[in-house]
Amino acid sequence: SSLFPALTEALADPDGTAAHRSALRFGDRSLTYGELAATAAPLAARVGEAGRIAVWATPTLETAVAVVAALLAGVPAVPLNPKSGGSELGHIVADSAPTLVLAPPGDQLPPALTALERVDIDVRASRPTAPSAPYPPVLDRDLAPETPALVVYTSGTTGPPKGAVIPRRAIAATLDALADAWQWTGDDVLVHGLPLFHVHGLILGILGPLRRGGSVRHLGRFETAGVTRELSTGATMLFGVPTMYHRIAETLPGDPALAKALAKARLLVSGSAALPVHDHQRIAEATGRRVIERYGMTETLMNTSVRADGEPRAGTVGVPLPGVGLRLTEEDGTTAVEAYDGETVGEIQVRGPNLFTEYLNRPDATAAAFTEDGWFRTGDMAVRDPDGYVRIVGRKATDLIKSGGYKIGAGEIENALLEHPGVREAAVTGEPDADLGERIVAWIVPADPEAPPSTDELADHVAGRLAPHKRPRVVHYLDTLPRNDMGKIMKRALNHD
Ligand code: ATP
Ligand code: MG
Repeated sequence: SSLFPALTEALADPDGTAAHRSALRFGDRSLTYGELAATAAPLAARVGEAGRIAVWATPTLETAVAVVAALLAGVPAVPLNPKSGGSELGHIVADSAPTLVLAPPGDQLPPALTALERVDIDVRASRPTAPSAPYPPVLDRDLAPETPALVVYTSGTTGPPKGAVIPRRAIAATLDALADAWQWTGDDVLVHGLPLFHVHGLILGILGPLRRGGSVRHLGRFETAGVTRELSTGATMLFGVPTMYHRIAETLPGDPALAKALAKARLLVSGSAALPVHDHQRIAEATGRRVIERYGMTETLMNTSVRADGEPRAGTVGVPLPGVGLRLTEEDGTTAVEAYDGETVGEIQVRGPNLFTEYLNRPDATAAAFTEDGWFRTGDMAVRDPDGYVRIVGRKATDLIKSGGYKIGAGEIENALLEHPGVREAAVTGEPDADLGERIVAWIVPADPEAPPSTDELADHVAGRLAPHKRPRVVHYLDTLPRNDMGKIMKRALNHD
């Protein structure tokens, strides 16, 4: 069945109401559903025979059109991060072996891509001159649900990126589950400035509004002035990553227009990494609105969130979305953690129609990622609060510190450090220790580099907030934390310094 009913309708009836609705806006360039259909359908016909196509995924209208064209044609698209270095691009191109690369006209492509046949995504040239001109055959409706739609490479936070093969079924399931939870309709107008090479910006941020028949206004680059402008002029929802909400929290005290605009939004949603409690609270105080956190990943799309009529709670990611099976398991990987005590830590495992099919060319990694009965091992550790809300403790590989017989989550300590006015950014890791097994190490970016808070001052500060075994033993001062393009802290890089 069609992934985008409004687009199918606009294709069938170029003069109908659906065709005139706004679909995409990037800066001063925009497309209605009719224009999107007229632009994407010829491109779909052009790429229809390709095996896999790469998309040079700049934050532009072109990327959205290219991905829609690929989905209409049933050709898997591989979005490429234009900011990734040559070696990462080389790895992704060699691994995914696309037959074509789609790129905005005029964009210069790096050497890793020059061997590929290039097709320009010419949005203006393909605007319809005669709206009722016949469209090329488009197969969208007839494609099987298991047809691969996208190959999205993971963020590479814990190792080299892996290509997750995402079928049409998973996209439909995740977007419909969110529509249910968030009461997301065709009347919603989404604003965001997310990159378009990951599931957050691409699937939620572009395909989400299109599946609902609503619209998206993309900021090109995230800036708080754009958020204010769009939320004051009809946008109803804001999606972002924690670094963006941090910018908002920092800007709010001097920007009453931003506070007013955020207060009007129907939904403010954060995902891709943990939203620091301090930022959640500052935004709530300044606007009266609580940011909803959702938890997901490339392999599973969206797993949990808070319902639109529910109560967002700082430090939690809500409950499993409709249709998503979620369990916490003990270290043996099969015994379920039954406790809803906010304390017993287990690995999150997920099952449901939102799951990817496999890692491209990595049968070993695919097999290792699933249990015998089909649960996906997320590698994320969590506890469940008495009301069922999931509270993520962190990644098993980098955020769970085993110290003095305790299992300690880095996030809790980071949240406590971030409450100190002298701390702008904080990351916590474990490092081998002869007595404790691991000792807790804090990496701090001071608010004022001229006057960083001393180790003693930080120790006093956390002493009032954390049990003694959770207090950092060592503090390092940095100018910035190493982050990837999604704003996620690369703890691997910290530990190797
Ligand atoms: P790689 O798998 O290559 O190491 P990655 O896991 O960062 O990279 P993504 O699939 O983009 O790649 O990110 C998913 C991960 O992001 C989740 O497994 C989880 O650790 C983290 N995450 C996502 N949303 C949240 C959230 N709301 N709170 C805490 N962590 C989150
Ligand atoms: Mg991952």
